[in-house]
Amino acid sequence: MGLLSLGSPLSWEETKKWADHVRKHGIQQLINIYRRLKDRHGDVLKWGDEVEYMLVVLDENNRTARLSLKGNQVLEQLEKRERESPNDPPTTWRPEYASYMIEGTPGKPYGGLMGHFNMVESNMRLRREELLSLLDRELGETAISFTVFPRLGSPAFTDPQVECNPTVNTASRSLFFPDAAINHHPRFRTLTRNIRERRGEKVCINIPVFQDKNTPKPFRETFSNGDEESRKAAKDDHIYMDCMGFGMGCSCLQMTFQACNIDEARHLYDQLAPLCPIFLALSAAAPVYRGYLADVDCRWNIIAGSVDCRTREERGLEPLKDDKFVIPKSRYDSIDCYLTPEAQKYNDIDLVLDQDICQQLEDAGIDRLLARHFAHLFIRDPISLFSEKIHLNDDEESDHFENIQSTNWQSMRFKPPPPNSPIGWRVEFRPTEVQLTDFENAAYVVFIVLLTRVILSYNLNFLIPISKVDENMQEAQKRDAVRQGLFWFRKEVLPPNECCEEDPKPKPAAKSYSQYNGSCQQEEYTKMSINEIINGQAGGFQGLVSLMNSYLETVEIDVDTRCSVQQYLRLIQKRASGELMTTARWIRAFVQNHPKYKYDSVVSDEIAYDLTKVSDEITKGIRSCPELFGMLNSRTKVSLPPVVHKKLRKENPDHDILT
Ligand code: ADP
Ligand code: MG
Ligand code: MG
Repeated sequence: MGLLSLGSPLSWEETKKWADHVRKHGIQQLINIYRRLKDRHGDVLKWGDEVEYMLVVLDENNRTARLSLKGNQVLEQLEKRERESPNDPPTTWRPEYASYMIEGTPGKPYGGLMGHFNMVESNMRLRREELLSLLDRELGETAISFTVFPRLGSPAFTDPQVECNPTVNTASRSLFFPDAAINHHPRFRTLTRNIRERRGEKVCINIPVFQDKNTPKPFRETFSNGDEESRKAAKDDHIYMDCMGFGMGCSCLQMTFQACNIDEARHLYDQLAPLCPIFLALSAAAPVYRGYLADVDCRWNIIAGSVDCRTREERGLEPLKDDKFVIPKSRYDSIDCYLTPEAQKYNDIDLVLDQDICQQLEDAGIDRLLARHFAHLFIRDPISLFSEKIHLNDDEESDHFENIQSTNWQSMRFKPPPPNSPIGWRVEFRPTEVQLTDFENAAYVVFIVLLTRVILSYNLNFLIPISKVDENMQEAQKRDAVRQGLFWFRKEVLPPNECCEEDPKPKPAAKSYSQYNGSCQQEEYTKMSINEIINGQAGGFQGLVSLMNSYLETVEIDVDTRCSVQQYLRLIQKRASGELMTTARWIRAFVQNHPKYKYDSVVSDEIAYDLTKVSDEITKGIRSCPELFGMLNSRTKVSLPPVVHKKLRKENPDHDILT
């Protein structure tokens, strides 16, 4: 989850003193990067995914599932293998927030060949196999890509069991999530403590509990180790959470793409932003927290709340005295502004920004839209700083810039090239919840990356007012949003007077685009179901998949890849139509149909064990799950088709992509 530096972390009091220094030099570092690389052009598409896994121990005798805290130990072994690998290793591993989490990525990025789409799932399988090979089956250890562990923060949810109360949890002061479950790298504990100290109180997350027929009304918990702060903070009829671990201890699925230049990166950033809520709803996989069924299906608001370091003044609860700004959102949330001139008219949220920084960026030649974006990110303080990393060479390093940039955890991230590296301008798509199987995760990744190609080829336009994207983000998290929700979406996404070959339909909406463009914007978009957005409306919006299929007709693609891509598109289509379940719906159904479920919203240890066991079997392919993915199956391959592979190696022996 961002920049990792080794060294001595500073306390919040110390970090705060350096906040202006970090911002000042961070902005200088950005300006230096911009000046050097703004005209960088001709980078090719490279892209990669990130999957986060949870280590789990299934105890068959006691019928319990626990999160194993041996992530660091496993990571060390994975890194050792990577170092000692004689060839380029096909996978890379990184630490994540919790000591039961690990993040896996491909060893090198994928490239612009269609065949790369067929390697994603195989590479994900390889990652999972590598991880599993280091776990002890006899002890019931396994790795599951749960978005949220169903009993995260319930009594004794870790292995080994550790003491958990506000006194021992000196970083978080949590009642539920032990500091011992935070990754031992000093960055993570420091972030936890500094966020709490900056805020002036523990983070506070209240998520509506799912009201089943026997759920107490009001649903009100008493916490045996509770403190006054928690008693006041916990709301009736809500599941209360009090720690960074409840959000950052969730897993997700992210994708990063390199654009050919800065303008294309800005364009993709804008175009993908309205798709964030759509893919949040489609990937919904997080309906249970602290052992209770929630009335939401996604992790988003939980994770936003879990790192909400805003003071009372910044949250608008007290008049501004010591702080500079009232800030409407947590540093983890959806983006607040588009970056391209075409999208400017849709920037309808008041952007809180640091005027001096904005001016400094504009004086350095950065255009106003981009300057405003960074001046908005830089309203935040650094929340983790290492004493060895305070005085830097702003020409050669970018740690201060990355410090602020990488702790603005937004739905999209615009990533400038690191100094002195061959990497170009990139964009990261960050809303997606992680799925149980490699097939599903590959499907979501391939869908989004393929969509970026279609956006660029057909010059698609998904822009709607950014405030509407925010409305959609809230809609997306509601229970069963994929079937019940309605989302603001453009009626026409093709440019005026253009239609793609495969779509001979007349285009009445194209007319309305030019007709209403500018003056009457509300006519450009309407509310649609996810099914309509993905699969199209009769006589109206053609649907994303039809556009993607048109594109696929125009490109050269080998049979196996075509088949796999088709299966991936089908999965998304069937999730959108409700024919297949989202993971969240499936988990809900599993709990509600469990013989031990008492219709009281409680996901007991035993139910959680069965759910975890079945999830593990589904992941490993031991058990089929037609409700989740039907009979779909890909023809994924570990490498590119042999002819392509050979040609590529010959042309570029120092290839820097996976082949
Ligand atoms: P984060 O910023 O989220 O820590 P990273 O930048 O480390 O993520 O990597 C995210 C993904 O980007 C990985 O899947 C990696 O394979 C991929 N990646 C690496 N190099 C490039 C590149 N030049 N262009 C696009 N993606 C890349
Ligand atoms: Mg991560
Ligand atoms: Mg990432």
